Amino acid sequence: MDPLVAAIDQGTSSTRFLVFNAKTAELISQHQVEINQSFPKEGWVEEDPKEIMQSVYECMERTCEKLYQLNIDVSNIKAVGVTNQRETTLVWDKETGEPLYNAIVWLDLRTQSTVERLISKAPGKNKNHLKHKTGLPISTYFSAVKLRWLLDNVDEVQQAVLSERAMFGTVDSWIIWCLTGGRSGGVHCTDVSNASRTMLFNIHTMNWDPELCRYFDVPMEILPKVRSSSEIYGFMKSGSLAGVPISGCLGDQSAALVGQMCLKEGQAKNTYGTGCFLLRNTGTKPVMSDHGLLTTVAYKMGKEESACYALEGSVAIAGAVVRWLKDNMGIVKSSSEIETLAAAAGSSYGCYFVPAFSGLYAPYWEPSARGIICGLTQFTNRNHLAFAALEAVCFQTREILDAMNLDSGVPLTQLKVDGGMTSNRLLMQLQADILCMPVARPTMAETTALGAAMAAGAAEGVDVWDLSVDHLPHVMREKYEPQINSDESEYRFARWKKAVQKAMNWET
Ligand code: ADP
Repeated sequence: MDPLVAAIDQGTSSTRFLVFNAKTAELISQHQVEINQSFPKEGWVEEDPKEIMQSVYECMERTCEKLYQLNIDVSNIKAVGVTNQRETTLVWDKETGEPLYNAIVWLDLRTQSTVERLISKAPGKNKNHLKHKTGLPISTYFSAVKLRWLLDNVDEVQQAVLSERAMFGTVDSWIIWCLTGGRSGGVHCTDVSNASRTMLFNIHTMNWDPELCRYFDVPMEILPKVRSSSEIYGFMKSGSLAGVPISGCLGDQSAALVGQMCLKEGQAKNTYGTGCFLLRNTGTKPVMSDHGLLTTVAYKMGKEESACYALEGSVAIAGAVVRWLKDNMGIVKSSSEIETLAAAAGSSYGCYFVPAFSGLYAPYWEPSARGIICGLTQFTNRNHLAFAALEAVCFQTREILDAMNLDSGVPLTQLKVDGGMTSNRLLMQLQADILCMPVARPTMAETTALGAAMAAGAAEGVDVWDLSVDHLPHVMREKYEPQINSDESEYRFARWKKAVQKAMNWET
């Protein structure tokens, strides 16, 4: 039996555990559990850290049962990697092991006034004041402002900091700490890709930055130790996989970049999940954007390896608009049903939907933008709305792709895609049409988990086949070619841009 490598993929909408053959990258078994989100106030988005951990344990145990049914011994799993929704912020008590508040999800907008205050005190009221160190604009999106909110508003967090019991972490840190023993010796760490999304991390020195911590008034003692993305952090403490090393850790978008084999400078991928994230590998040098993109640490594949960076275009709402149509509007019963509705319409018939539910991220970074649906007529029905929602995801990708091409000077000629939404074939065709460019989807779409499993398998000290590119099978791709002419797509894109202006200035 070939050795196996596994990954915990803790996303915004669900948790998965997936097991791959370490030689062939073939997916052997998996289990998935949906995660509840709560919206306690307008703009607030929270998840329960304990539910997140329960879902991790459940996915691991159920996958092990499935392996057992396949007559596969779980002892063949030689390493586990963790990949996770990024920026989502937690604080817990290291003595009781209890979370001190819900996880504040990356999409959450409660810190809008904190962000406005921070920007107003920056020289020239410049939201990019910290970009030279962090690669990021000051925004509600990143962990530092969420942590600031917890320190200002939650008594339990303040008390725990004073009594030196508080631990801060993004979801990766929480999972690794719990799995390696929690309050009985759990390892408090994160990797460079996750750290680079906090705004407390200097992407040049690759360390927590005292000046940034002072800026946000965050005590450095509560921060996890920053490690590379591929090394042994610790060992599973309990369950069917007790004793297996946890040896890979990557933020979900970094993991997808690795899983899509975008390991060379210039290679890019776009992932369609809750949000949508286009990342382009820029090699060992960080490239600063002039067009509203982020500079981020992509990965560091081993203690002694150099870090690789990426330019990133982040869209807050992609699959989330489908979930909104399902959960809030009741227009569809399942996410996949949107394809049937949109196909029945065949066009939005002049209806444009800008789902700026959490403001607008790249390339605008406008937290006060709000969602609008415009161009409605008596003729408009739910099918047109479904079509407009899918088209919105494609237009947003077009905006970040244009910015990426301007920043890098070398235009992409095809778009590699992955993520939950890419099973929607109509969406993929629309994307090719709106970009006037082929869109290529791997037949094995679990690239995020594959990336984390690869990082885990490649770690020094883990005795499995070295999962380098050469050893992977050729990744088959399904290709979508543009089917409309560029005049038509330019016309639609120009109207979308007008709708975006309205979403940004809806109050004036
Ligand atoms: P995440 O990693 O952010 O949790 P996933 O990659 O698991 O996200 O994708 C889930 C998202 O994709 C959900 O928001 C869901 O609404 C959307 N989605 C899933 N299937 C489809 C589909 N067939 N058509 C459109 N959207 C879909």
